[in-house]
Amino acid sequence: MAISVIGYAAASPTSELAPFRFERRDPRGDDVVIEILYCGVCHSDLHTVRNDWGSAMYPVVPGHEIVGKVTALGKDVTRFKIGDAVGVGCLVDSCRHCVECEHGHEQYCDHMVLTYSSIDPKDGSVTQGGYSNQIVVSDRFVLNIPKGIDMKGAAPLLCAGITTFSPLRHWLVDDHSKVAIVGLGGLGHMGIKLAKAMGAEVTLFTRSPGKEEDAKRLGADLVVLSADAAQMEAVTGKFDLIIDTVPYDHDLNPYIPTLSVNGTLVLVGYLGPLGTALNTAPLVLKRKAVGGSLIGGLPETQEMLDFCGEHGITADVEVIAMADINKAYERLLKSDVKYRFVIDMATLSG
Ligand code: NAP
Ligand code: ZN
Repeated sequence: MAISVIGYAAASPTSELAPFRFERRDPRGDDVVIEILYCGVCHSDLHTVRNDWGSAMYPVVPGHEIVGKVTALGKDVTRFKIGDAVGVGCLVDSCRHCVECEHGHEQYCDHMVLTYSSIDPKDGSVTQGGYSNQIVVSDRFVLNIPKGIDMKGAAPLLCAGITTFSPLRHWLVDDHSKVAIVGLGGLGHMGIKLAKAMGAEVTLFTRSPGKEEDAKRLGADLVVLSADAAQMEAVTGKFDLIIDTVPYDHDLNPYIPTLSVNGTLVLVGYLGPLGTALNTAPLVLKRKAVGGSLIGGLPETQEMLDFCGEHGITADVEVIAMADINKAYERLLKSDVKYRFVIDMATLSG
């Protein structure tokens, strides 16, 4: 029998999110049924709701920073038991047998299924995310939340955490590295905490005067105002790795001189054509690179959660009621959040 669920959905790119009843599938043998306790609010939720990427399937129930408790299990599930604290991130399935899946890089599988606004090829349904009271997910895509970690602060690790952890690991960040993060929002604040915990010297590039004190509290050694030419000049040739979390088109050229020889700027925020052409000369002349990175696979997401458990890392969150989501989106657009909204699903009645 299908599971009846209540959530919040957007019916079109211009409508506000509103209560929405729908059904989750009857659990298959490998499924985990989860009562959602908290769900983080990622800027990708807002991009999808407003159809910035042209891929939204309405009605959209967003949310891919999900934590909760297991309430039921399919007959074949052995990794979890009822009552376990678990998480679900941006992926709920993939083909499971291509090279990327075999390497645990399910995020790069051509047939990966996103947590919301994606078609589940097993039954043709459109996936619906974590702004809801229950979710049903195959056990391969369910993560263990380390014991003792605060559940509210753990929710954003499922996207903001892994999206910054994965490039830090891929580009081999350690205690000799100099890392910069562009943008102090949900992803940016996790990037600072994680890079610092890996031993790197960490710098924040921000367009916002007034974030310096907070950035330092989060672990930044240096804060550079990106609009200040003298501050930019002072960090010429410094960074092995820059992770750029800015959600909208912006000029990358000012950041390239701040990379060291062999340095890499990794985009995780904006997806699309650049309005200002990238000058390739400084890339060629000093073997610099501009790349991108998408969330992380399941094994690496579990590694990140365990790393956060060991180092006592969670997100800085502002807990909101479900009914306040539309106000939260307006504030997110103004970068008015320190540093992640997390919805308390106990406020979702009905
Ligand atoms: P967020 O909380 O809104 O933070 C974005 C930060 O970027 C802001 O705090 C701001 O920091 C800076 N910024 C610079 N110009 C901006 C502008 N015009 N508008 C808004 N912010 C601007 O967003 P987030 O949740 O961290 O997500 C960041 C981006 O990453 C989004 O595009 C999201 O879709 C994407 N994302 C990608 C992946 C992936 O796998 N690659 C995963 C999750 C999210 P300052 O004030 O410090 O400049
Ligand atoms: Zn996200």
